[in-house]
Amino acid sequence: MAGERGIRNNGASATPRSTVDARPQVRPTTEGWQQKMGPDGRPVLQFAEPKRGKPPVHLADLTAEQRTARVIELGLPGFRAKQLSTHYFTHYTTDPAAMTDLPVAVRDELVAGMLPPLLTEVRRLRTDNGDTIKFLWKLHDGALVESVLMRYPGRITLCVSSQAGCGMNCPFCATGQAGLTRNMSTAEIVDQVVQANAAIAAGELGGKKRGETTPERVSNIVFMGMGEPLANYNRVMDAVRTMVEPQPNGLGMSARHITVSTVGLVPAILKLAEEKVPVTFALSLHAPDDQLRDELIPVNSRWKVDEALDAARAYFDATGRRVSIEYALIKDMNDHAWRADLLAQKLNERGRGWVHVNPIPLNPTPGSIWTSSEPAVMREFVRRLEDSGIPTTLRDTRGKEIDGACGQLAAADETATA
Ligand code: SAH
Repeated sequence: MAGERGIRNNGASATPRSTVDARPQVRPTTEGWQQKMGPDGRPVLQFAEPKRGKPPVHLADLTAEQRTARVIELGLPGFRAKQLSTHYFTHYTTDPAAMTDLPVAVRDELVAGMLPPLLTEVRRLRTDNGDTIKFLWKLHDGALVESVLMRYPGRITLCVSSQAGCGMNCPFCATGQAGLTRNMSTAEIVDQVVQANAAIAAGELGGKKRGETTPERVSNIVFMGMGEPLANYNRVMDAVRTMVEPQPNGLGMSARHITVSTVGLVPAILKLAEEKVPVTFALSLHAPDDQLRDELIPVNSRWKVDEALDAARAYFDATGRRVSIEYALIKDMNDHAWRADLLAQKLNERGRGWVHVNPIPLNPTPGSIWTSSEPAVMREFVRRLEDSGIPTTLRDTRGKEIDGACGQLAAADETATA
């Protein structure tokens, strides 16, 4: 409840403020949970994953040639690989009984060798009108991840996870609280999309317009689930390549409909810019000044606001794709009018027409004392950006009531521990 979630002023800082906006500055401290701290007294950043057993190799981990080679290794003719890919990427099935174009005698063996189960559904939550579904998946080693499927007018978006947990330790995000469990494999990332497509094909996503009969599937992917995608670079990029690869060898999606969102790993952003896959790029900035971002986004200790923005601009230069700046609006912390002005100034210094801003009202996370900015403050923030010529769209908080909105994915399995 709002009254219980009041903001405490943990000592106002000496940050400059404009006279129009003399609200206090709340500092990013956590309550209800402790950020893991390193010997330097700063929040720990985990880039390397803890050692764990690898998930079984799956068709979606392999290139088309590797798939053929593996089927031959299993003692079967290579062309069976394409048939399996068609079942998986076009019909979203891994059920041997449905694969009537394969000889009965080899179906089970082929499926076991090429399409091992990767994601086991633990729970599924849906909103009242059914147009949003949050899936909780268990991976082969018990690690838990979530994905969120959302129907919008004219598109179906899946928010996918790229890591179990996250090592970036942002104090306002539920995923970071437990640290990094491990990187997800390419096929574990892709399988979230295939499973979502299967759910859609089975008519499980509500909100479809009456009389609509065209087959439907996930049209947009956002890497905004659990994890830092650029900290699992190679597997995320292999997953993206499989998503855009035409059917039957991939999902045949459009790269521009795939958004890779990062906390700001600058070398990886520059590498991404050189890939020949023009995905949509989003930078989670959340503060235009290092003084605040140092505290709000621990990775700012490595790469500063200006470096992250330069890398975002380089992404635009290399791809021609307009980039997004994500900005969670947190009451009295980063929502000051002068910060909107500073953000606009820093973006405009780097040119026009290359960027737009996506403010996101903060979603509540367990133990957090912070709340979303007041509507009038959000409007003012947006207005200032727009007045400076920056296209700005306030993001919706879809999935909030099922803890499926940005920053709320913690993959707790209450049923398993009960
Ligand atoms: N690691 C990636 C993906 C994370 S989630 C990244 O940092 O971009 C996607 C977006 O949700 C990020 O912009 C993230 O900062 C934001 N987010 C995290 N916690 C949030 C919260 N409690 N409310 C609103 N947005 C949040």
